[in-house]
Amino acid sequence: MKVLVTGGCGFIGSHTCVELLEGGYEVVIVDNLSNSKKDVVNKIETITNKKVKFYEVNVCDFKELDKIFETEQIDAVIHFAGYKAVGESVSKPIMYYRNNLDSTLTLIEVMSKHNVKRLVFSSSATVYGDPEKLPITEDFPLHTTNPYGTTKLMIEMILRDLYKSDNEWSIALLRYFNPIGAHKSGLIGENPNGIPNNLMPYIVKVANKELPQLSIFGNDYVTKDGTGVRDYIHVVDLAKGHIKAIEKVSKDRGIDAYNLGTGKGYSVLEIVNTFMKVNNVDVPYKIVERRPGDIAACYASTEKANKILGWKAELEIDEMCKDAYNYVINNK
Ligand code: UDP
Repeated sequence: MKVLVTGGCGFIGSHTCVELLEGGYEVVIVDNLSNSKKDVVNKIETITNKKVKFYEVNVCDFKELDKIFETEQIDAVIHFAGYKAVGESVSKPIMYYRNNLDSTLTLIEVMSKHNVKRLVFSSSATVYGDPEKLPITEDFPLHTTNPYGTTKLMIEMILRDLYKSDNEWSIALLRYFNPIGAHKSGLIGENPNGIPNNLMPYIVKVANKELPQLSIFGNDYVTKDGTGVRDYIHVVDLAKGHIKAIEKVSKDRGIDAYNLGTGKGYSVLEIVNTFMKVNNVDVPYKIVERRPGDIAACYASTEKANKILGWKAELEIDEMCKDAYNYVINNK
């Protein structure tokens, strides 16, 4: 079975390609390298000792995408490609809507043309906004607080309309919680451009002395220690969830959303302290004001993914912290 992976050179995409190849799937990557490097393709091949087909193409480009579908016999698609920085989406909303919606619409049109109707879409827990209670189940009300999140929610809605219009589609909407960590090999991991926005990439840069100290955004939330609580999931566990989703869309028609998280919430302080302990490294920090738009706590109910996809995250927080640092040490 051949799977086309858009954004396959990115953080979650590259780990998913590794799991696909190790599971015996053939992989075709389409990535315009706007936020990744071509070298990732070689790394995926080194880890798996298998070949990957790579096309440097923008998913918004109908003609080029169409050619790929003409050349390759694609059975299913995992769609990762998209802009993903929350802050940037607030300052450049139109760029986010244009890119994330256009790429998805183009992809759907090309898939329809070639009668490929199995799709796994990278959504996000951000579609739950500030949840009224925890843990979050998939039937919670959906609302967003920034343009990035809105593109994810709009695409979910577009895909639901698509399925209503044509019941031959099989679509899994995967709502990711907070992916961190890296592949054990230290060859692939998270590599954000510039100063990171997310917690783990920031911690890693502080540990590596590339940044002087971490700012912890608020310690007056109603949480275990006052700092924000999130459901951090090892990217390799997350990648494995995609294999289960591919199995599901290959088997049954329909459209459904699944939370991919661990079901456990950790505070910022717990993450920082665990990171320092398992890596035996210092991460200086200071407490600062809350970051606008942040919520106090967020973690998944993983029951649906567990029951329907037969998937469960296995790696613990120690592993996530170790692997995140190992990737940086390895790529100094
Ligand atoms: N956070 C922090 N300092 C940072 C980045 C993040 O204290 O430099 C906190 C943030 O307030 C939140 C948690 O870490 O409570 C996770 O933030 P991240 O941006 O990684 O994910 P998201 O907020 O999108 O869940």
